[in-house]
Amino acid sequence: ILRIKEGESMVNKDIEDMKSRAKEGDIAAQVELGISYLYGYGVDIDYVEAFIYLQDAAIKNDGEAQLHLGKMYENGWGIKEDLWTAYSLYRRSYKVHTEGSRKAISNVIDKLADAIPITGHLSIANDFTITACCERLREYIRMGKIIPFEDDDESNLYLSNTNRTILLKECPFCGECVEHTH
Ligand SMILES: [Zn+2]
Repeated sequence: ILRIKEGESMVNKDIEDMKSRAKEGDIAAQVELGISYLYGYGVDIDYVEAFIYLQDAAIKNDGEAQLHLGKMYENGWGIKEDLWTAYSLYRRSYKVHTEGSRKAISNVIDKLADAIPITGHLSIANDFTITACCERLREYIRMGKIIPFEDDDESNLYLSNTNRTILLKECPFCGECVEHTH
């Protein structure tokens, strides 16, 4: 019993240490705390705490934080489910080569492609609402060959090859022009 008690106080001490480091802006401590609260490692699950710590580190471009914050959005853990925000976070995470980010992208893009209606018009809004002109274009989005991406001023579609990425102005299959909606 005594040993368990000592163990518990050790964990609490570690958590308190990490909290003070996180408060000082230590990204590694923010990520560790965020993940601990998200999955209940050594602490009770607390989505509010998890969100705060992960967001702090994600803003500073920590790939691990972006990945797990994305999971919160993808699954609606403690926040409103938002697949596009999850996607956007996974993309950023992938950019800094985070393990697991590529798989996360393909999982979420599958769900997203299912939700894209085929209307005959190819459009993308800044919030990533997309309509597809044809089935093939939607399949290319599903396969990650056509990628929606948030630029500084608006969201765009990109055609992704092995070695380059090209801004898409029209559908490569049916020729429909890309419209930007708001
Ligand atoms: Zn098309």
